[in-house]
Parts: sequence; structure tokens; C-alpha cells
Amino acid sequence: MSDSTPELDQSNEEPKREPVPEVLYSFYEDRAFVSCTRCGESLADFEDGYRISKNFKKGEVLIEYALCMPCLTAMLDEASEESKKSLDDFQEKHYREGVSGFEECALCVRTIDEARNEEFGLVGVCHGNDMVDSALICIDCMEAMAETMSEETRRTWDKFREENFPGVPSDFELFPARPAPSIL
Ligand SMILES: [Zn+2]
Ligand SMILES: [Zn+2]
Repeated sequence: MSDSTPELDQSNEEPKREPVPEVLYSFYEDRAFVSCTRCGESLADFEDGYRISKNFKKGEVLIEYALCMPCLTAMLDEASEESKKSLDDFQEKHYREGVSGFEECALCVRTIDEARNEEFGLVGVCHGNDMVDSALICIDCMEAMAETMSEETRRTWDKFREENFPGVPSDFELFPARPAPSIL
């Protein structure tokens, strides 16, 4: 893409900061996430913040993790070039400008109540104790994203899951959507 920088028309919309909501607390630890699931470092120490992902099905937490930005970037970097490109294309095509929060899918028109099988992922981008951006991704969009990825890229995520969540069945796709390109 070669478009020159468009006028910043949303400068009046400051990213909202709010305390990390309890729905993004660690269900298993029964408190806010304190360390990165991958490297174990304290999340509060990362100036660039961290990202929490939780997948739900019918009110149950299927999987949850917090990744510091360096780990998130490292995971994304392990994706094949082809997967990165198709994921970028997918998100660019579907990303709904201005949609955040946990009521509507950030990538399609479904609301949380319309998510198939009540299955969806919640994502929060956080700094310290604050959440600065958030997104809901419905299961259909998660599956559609997973389909754009190569075998090799899926294996990276399978490995992450196996190492960190032994015993979790392999039918969830974890590849993180990027809800908030603007804050990176
Ligand atoms: Zn980390
Ligand atoms: Zn969706």
C-alpha cells in the first residue's frame, strides 16, 4: 500500500483508559493477570503494555493468557510471511473502525448474543492496571482467520498451547487478532 498519510480525523477520540475489567481477570488464578504466560515476567514492568485474551463458550473460560508485547511480537514474527500477509489482509478488510468493547464483534456485525454457541474471544490491550483497548471476536471470525493461516503458523500456536495449556483440546485457534494497531 502506498497511500500517503491521511488526515488524522479521529484525534478527538482519545483512547479510553479504564481499569482492567474483571471479565479479563485470570479465571484460574482468581485475580488480575500478573505475569506473562510465555516468559513469566511481571506484566506491570512492560512499558508497551500487554495483551489479555480469553476465549469463552457458554459462559465457561476455554483458555486464557496474557502476553507481554515482546512475546506477542515474537509469536507474530514466527508466523510465515504468507500467513502474516493474509492475516493482515483479513483484518484490514474486516476490521470495523471505531468498534471496541465486548458487545459487538470487531470484525463482523454479530453481537455477543449472536455469537454461535455463545463462543467468542475477548481481547484487552492493557498498560499496568489500565485497559486501553478492547475487542470481541466471534467464533466465526476466529475460524475465518485461522483458515487464512498456513500449517506452519498454526503449528507455532499449537506448540504455545501445548506448552502452556496441556490437556486443552486442539480445536481452538489462538492466533491473536490485532484489535488495536493504533496503540502499538
Ligand atoms: Zn512475555
Ligand atoms: Zn465476527
